[in-house]
Amino acid sequence: MRENRSDAKQKKRSKILNLIRERKGCSRSEIATALDIDKKSVSLVVDDLLAQELVLPVGFRDSQAGRRQELLAVNGSHTNYIGIDLGATHITGVRTDLNCLVLDRVFFEVRPGLAVDLILEQMKSIIKTLMSSDSGTGKLKSIGVCLPGFVNPVDGISLVAENIPGWHEIRIRKILGEEIHKSVYIEDCSRAMGLAERWLGKGGEVDDFLVLDLGYGIGMALFLNGDLYTGSGYKSGEIGHTVVDKDGPVCTCGKKGCLEVYASGRGIAQIASDGVKSNQSGILEELIHGDIKSLTAQDVALAASMNDEHSLQIIGAAGEYIGTALSNVVNILNPKKIIIGGGLTGAGKPLFDSIAKALQAHTMKEIIADLKLEQSDLGVDVSARGSALVAMEHVFS
Ligand SMILES: [Zn+2]
Repeated sequence: MRENRSDAKQKKRSKILNLIRERKGCSRSEIATALDIDKKSVSLVVDDLLAQELVLPVGFRDSQAGRRQELLAVNGSHTNYIGIDLGATHITGVRTDLNCLVLDRVFFEVRPGLAVDLILEQMKSIIKTLMSSDSGTGKLKSIGVCLPGFVNPVDGISLVAENIPGWHEIRIRKILGEEIHKSVYIEDCSRAMGLAERWLGKGGEVDDFLVLDLGYGIGMALFLNGDLYTGSGYKSGEIGHTVVDKDGPVCTCGKKGCLEVYASGRGIAQIASDGVKSNQSGILEELIHGDIKSLTAQDVALAASMNDEHSLQIIGAAGEYIGTALSNVVNILNPKKIIIGGGLTGAGKPLFDSIAKALQAHTMKEIIADLKLEQSDLGVDVSARGSALVAMEHVFS
């Protein structure tokens, strides 16, 4: 019985703190109305949050009755967090405050095929660099790491990342925790991106939405009824491995004709390389100075922006595959919004238009009528900031 009462109290505190975080300036009576909690209970919780310096008064507003109401917001400088985004081609690290504002940033480019040990060493080095910007304030609370492939967030294990050769059953929490002596939380990269959209981006106002992560691989975060959907074994969102051509080429997952073969950064670079080898794109060949091994999807996007026919055709076809795969998910889940993010969005309008066109063509008209398709505006640090949110989530829950 006592435990139930303490659970209810904790739930109330979490609801109030999250509302203050979302509104970035709200009064006690607004909280009471929005959450249907009596004003006295709200005040007790708010007094406690003020005493812990988790929230701060940020000004006043006159109520309709003419009384001045104190406005509250989350105290960003309460604690700091580190967010690490490990991708197949980069490691990005950010240090943020409790409002997830970036205080410091480190970026490292990972060459494809770099040994697993060296990637881990680089990750530790980035974390140590970000820790040293603490200036002895002791504010750094915890670290979040997002990884591609499959993760087990409960045990802190990165199970497999098919785009990083040799990456298998890496005990991230243990490896980093032993050296850094801070709590380490892990999550899937696309879900970290989704969390950032939910808290900081275009997913704040809707409860049913999808975040499509277009990068070296393709992933997705699903928000259903306001909650991040992980699946039964934390393996949800693998839209990149849905089949768009059952007789297509073999994918990194071992199956044939997955979306990633045609439309991921890796897939686009492969298709473009084949094109350069058969002399289909002079502009692209010039851009990479003939070094086919160095060719990336970014080069293809750049060539497309210079009206290179072959590159435009590859980007257009990728968008068509993405839009088609998306339409299947949309027909099943009926989301209100799709937010598109990730490095591949640098391909710009040709990619976005082609996705929108295929999505329109293949989704049931009754379902697409209310659907919004938008591009993320959180920039390149989105997943690293999402990782910092993973690290601070326990403060708010
Ligand atoms: Zn696959």
